[in-house]
Amino acid sequence: MIQMKNVIKKYPNGIIAVKGLNIEIKQGEFAYIVGPSGAGKSTFIKMMYREEKPTSGEIRVNGTDIAQLKDKEIPFLRRGMGVVFQDFKLLPRKNVYENVAFALEVIEEKPENIKKRVSDVLKLVGLAKKANMFPDELSGGEQQRVAIARSIVNTPKVVIADEPTGNLDPETSWEIMRLFDEINARGTTIIMATHNKEIVNTMRKRVIAIENGQIVRDERGGDYGYEF
Ligand code: ADP
Ligand code: ADP
Repeated sequence: MIQMKNVIKKYPNGIIAVKGLNIEIKQGEFAYIVGPSGAGKSTFIKMMYREEKPTSGEIRVNGTDIAQLKDKEIPFLRRGMGVVFQDFKLLPRKNVYENVAFALEVIEEKPENIKKRVSDVLKLVGLAKKANMFPDELSGGEQQRVAIARSIVNTPKVVIADEPTGNLDPETSWEIMRLFDEINARGTTIIMATHNKEIVNTMRKRVIAIENGQIVRDERGGDYGYEF
């Protein structure tokens, strides 16, 4: 479902963050992206949802080369993916229900479908009882659950996550990771950059290691492989 061929990303300041990536991730996979800080993990992830445009190469998402998309076509790409960030990125003036519903409102989903879909995903992430609370009334783990609910409410084929447990304590991180595992078990592809060694070593998923803008390891049932 995601294929990269000879992808290079050079930023305007001259830094070459990604130096010729070739990778294929299939529908239903769960892949961790690991590697040192500054290795190019975020750049790799941002190119998948066209937050960054590759300088050259091909990035196919379900067959479409997204490197070639016009800006006005990007919203259509994003309808088929969910994105989860380290800092949650919730809307502070909207409550839990509204934060999740907003993702459907912007794509003009029918109001009668929105209510059912939002209640279903809030149940799935364990927040049905907190639908009326605001982000600043929630713990970090709960805020990340809202962000995950928002990312899947549109039933995307893939969820892309950049360090989603980076701001959470170890126990909360495990709860969030179990939630991603459950979403993956329901058929959604998960691609996640992480520094969480213990979780990667326990979950035994596909591990793609990036160093210096290049893939240096790609293993099924792999381990984290670093001491940090
Ligand atoms: P990682 O996520 O592995 O820490 P990044 O993809 O964030 O790596 O960064 C890779 C390299 O690209 C680093 O040298 C970083 O400083 C540089 N970089 C990242 N974003 C930008 C940007 N917007 N402009 C210029 N350089 C950037
Ligand atoms: P954690 O220890 O997991 O970080 P917190 O101590 O932040 O969690 O929150 C514990 C519980 O209290 C959570 O269920 C959260 O929703 C609730 N809570 C936290 N802050 C507030 C607040 N300002 N108003 C209402 N409820 C809150």
